[in-house]
Amino acid sequence: MKLEIRTYGDPVLRQKGARIEKIAPEIKKLVADMFDTMYDARGVGLAAQQVGHALQLTVVDVRGIKDRPSTMQVNGKTVDPEALMPLVLINPELKLSGETFTGAEGCLSFPEIFADISRPSEVEVTAMDEKGHQVSFRAGGLLAKAVQHEFDHLQGILFIDRMKSETKRELKSELDALAEKTKLALKKKK
Ligand code: ZN
Repeated sequence: MKLEIRTYGDPVLRQKGARIEKIAPEIKKLVADMFDTMYDARGVGLAAQQVGHALQLTVVDVRGIKDRPSTMQVNGKTVDPEALMPLVLINPELKLSGETFTGAEGCLSFPEIFADISRPSEVEVTAMDEKGHQVSFRAGGLLAKAVQHEFDHLQGILFIDRMKSETKRELKSELDALAEKTKLALKKKK
């Protein structure tokens, strides 16, 4: 089932996600709904906050994106990221490494807004999947970027927080308009 994507200005996007101690049926249902929502919106990642739940849960799928390749290693062996997608990351922990890499980013909670963001080029991820199995891998390229972007969401951090102040200034009127639109829509719902 497709869920409503929360946009900038919705306070849930600023909430730190609670750890998930038990993978209850509601969590499995939420994971399935998050995939439906992400694929429908053609995103490569979606965090629980973006569908209104402040939880340590995100889904990622970088399949099909050839112009921005991803790399992946499991137990020190290089693997094909396509074979391991999609990813469900519950209570993820990250170790960042590599040089800083700058590339364009977008976010489903900021429709039509894109900006260059600098992030470390590699990341080591440890998490749990929706079956309760441990997930560990090393990622580079687009996947490293996507995982860091989604991990930020789980802490209530948004990509605008990582933009250069100059870029944020250039986008200010668009961002303010989006936040205003979101707040009006939330008021109407109450
Ligand atoms: Zn995002």
